[in-house]
Amino acid sequence: MPKLLATIQNQIPLTRYAYRGEATDCNLCGSQHKLTVSQTDRRLKTLKTVACEQCGLIRTDPMPTDAELDAYYAGEYRLDYQFAFSKKPPRFHLKRSQRDAEARFAMLEPAFSGTKRVLDFGSGSGEFLALAAKAGHKVQGIEPGESFAAFSRVEYGVSVQNTVWQQVEFQPGSFDVITANHVLEHLREPVSAMKRMAEWLAEDGVLFVSVPNALGKRRHSFQHFHFAHVYNFTPQALIWAGLVAGLEPDPRFMNGGTTITFRKRKEGAAIPHWGEGQGRWVAAHFEPSSPLRFLLSGRWIVDAFRRFRKVAGDSLARA
Ligand SMILES: [Zn+2]
Repeated sequence: MPKLLATIQNQIPLTRYAYRGEATDCNLCGSQHKLTVSQTDRRLKTLKTVACEQCGLIRTDPMPTDAELDAYYAGEYRLDYQFAFSKKPPRFHLKRSQRDAEARFAMLEPAFSGTKRVLDFGSGSGEFLALAAKAGHKVQGIEPGESFAAFSRVEYGVSVQNTVWQQVEFQPGSFDVITANHVLEHLREPVSAMKRMAEWLAEDGVLFVSVPNALGKRRHSFQHFHFAHVYNFTPQALIWAGLVAGLEPDPRFMNGGTTITFRKRKEGAAIPHWGEGQGRWVAAHFEPSSPLRFLLSGRWIVDAFRRFRKVAGDSLARA
């Protein structure tokens, strides 16, 4: 489907997204058993979301195929998700990204003594790489979005591979610090990606991971879900994902919720004890709420207006 048509379809409530998808097993525990947690996403579009019955990891069902996701991230994503119409990242994005990069860099301070080899997995417009490079570290980025990868190279002079992570090859132990900030939730195989990052990590290296907390507070359960987030993590699922990748939370860092800095486990990878009824417990968290009531409340008009104002303000500021 042409890019613009798909983008328009992706804005219309009560219709499906422009994708076919396929059934998948849970990428954390491999189970096929699932419980439906939502039939709608935050735009009130039809999108089925399930929780794995065994481990409670949440995913889109059916899952977009590799080709569908690759095409989405190569171009359509920034337009669809952030209304980024120009080649340059929007001002509000750059501001937020700079703030996030500074906070992440400060938080990881114990890992940054001396000169470190740093990989930002999903480096976006490159603000974190720029900060680390300025502080004297050797930096490398991976970013599938063409315009953001190009922007970070030109604007900050940093090295970024413009491709998907499956295409990237590094020697084992190549990096002292790897960060994946709000990236894993976008991947079809987030736990496989964590395993790969664990291989790239030096023995005393650290991996910072932050994802949205699927159990965080929202007025309506469907407001948690969005097409771009094909997996949604609970804090427990993220710790388990680390465990199967041979990692454990590093106590030197502030870890909480779904923001965790991992180190390598001396004992290597292990299969977690999934416990009883994790999936049912997670599914019970998402009480069904009525999209129709939300529509009638007019709340969506306020949300749409806020989004429009942000974008319009950004465009006017540039003109
Ligand atoms: Zn599972």
